[in-house]
Amino acid sequence: MHIPYQGNFRWTDIPVKEYKTDGTHFKDITRQILFDDPELACQLRYFEIEPGGHSTLERHQHVHAVMIFRGRGHALVGHSVIPVQTFDLVQIPGMTWHQFRATEGEHLGFLCLVNCDRDRPILPTEEDLAELRQHPEVADFIRV
Ligand code: MN
Repeated sequence: MHIPYQGNFRWTDIPVKEYKTDGTHFKDITRQILFDDPELACQLRYFEIEPGGHSTLERHQHVHAVMIFRGRGHALVGHSVIPVQTFDLVQIPGMTWHQFRATEGEHLGFLCLVNCDRDRPILPTEEDLAELRQHPEVADFIRV
């Protein structure tokens, strides 16, 4: 199988989908499923966040292996806010809070590898948010 690249972070016949349709809080982000192979038992997705947009603040049992593919931004991983840029690698361990945000004026695109069979994301409770907000850098960063 060969899927030609079309430029502008789009691939032939791969639809650009909504990031999520579960009503959780996110802003200006799209999802493309590049590989979805039962034999490999994993999916490779490409997410793209518009300037200033962000992904959902969440955690879950499954792990994310991420390669930044476009632009710059920041990632919350646990209680750390990490500046990320193109070609950086980010691994998000299981049950670790995470959220990605694009820098103002820049897109943030990233490849994200996950298991096909995975648990659903868990959103923070008010107690979880209170705990996260005890860390000033985290409090400033998160969007919920
Ligand atoms: Mn996640």
